[in-house]
Amino acid sequence: LQQVSKIYKSGNRSLTVLDDINFSIPAGSTMSIVGPSGSGKTTLLGLCAGLDRATSGTVALHGTRLNGLSEDQLAAVRNQYVGFIFQNFQLLPTLTALENVMVPLELRGEKNIRPRALDLLDKVGLAERSHHYPTQLSGGEQQRVSLARAFSNEPRILFADEPTGNLDADTSVKVVKLLFDLNKEAGTTLVLVTHDLELAARTQRIVRIKGGKLTSDELNNI
Ligand code: ATP
Repeated sequence: LQQVSKIYKSGNRSLTVLDDINFSIPAGSTMSIVGPSGSGKTTLLGLCAGLDRATSGTVALHGTRLNGLSEDQLAAVRNQYVGFIFQNFQLLPTLTALENVMVPLELRGEKNIRPRALDLLDKVGLAERSHHYPTQLSGGEQQRVSLARAFSNEPRILFADEPTGNLDADTSVKVVKLLFDLNKEAGTTLVLVTHDLELAARTQRIVRIKGGKLTSDELNNI
């Protein structure tokens, strides 16, 4: 990201949510974004992932400048490189857990996707819930479906917004292990937004933001 700002306008009022953010994330690394509620963390994650567009500045992902891409081109870049775990899951309500996990595979035109999606659900401990719809799942279970979906296109970079925010202690340990295993085994770059400072301390680097400004960028001693 170079000189990235995000300004929301409504009528003649404008709100600067991100102000002149600069950083780069080395491939294969792990990083946390921390900061108070409303400081712009989710907005920043969305810009990095190509889910949203910066008002000014440059965002590039794996060498591709996102500025100026059409919606379709942006979606293609996301589908090729990005996994995203949303704070509020964003599962498709009319699809079962299994079908939700199959969506990114279908979008990539892959074959034999049902067993792969089942295997992913099994990894997050939800194989038995595969035919349940999101409303039939608890918050933590929906979070795990969302994780399986984010893993399914084998992303080069995984963005996770409060990945443990809705989980009990045991499930949280399992989910965190899955995330870090993915980094170690597949070299997936991991970018987390979290309020959990213990989790942040496990990533190689912590970026802090406050009021839309980057206030520190430190390497962890791990
Ligand atoms: P939390 O920790 O509570 O999830 P956050 O640090 O992730 O907060 P953001 O969700 O990025 O914060 O929001 C930053 C600011 O931008 C907030 O003041 C929010 O109200 C505002 N904001 C977010 N999305 C929009 C939008 N679409 N239109 C206008 N303002 C928005």
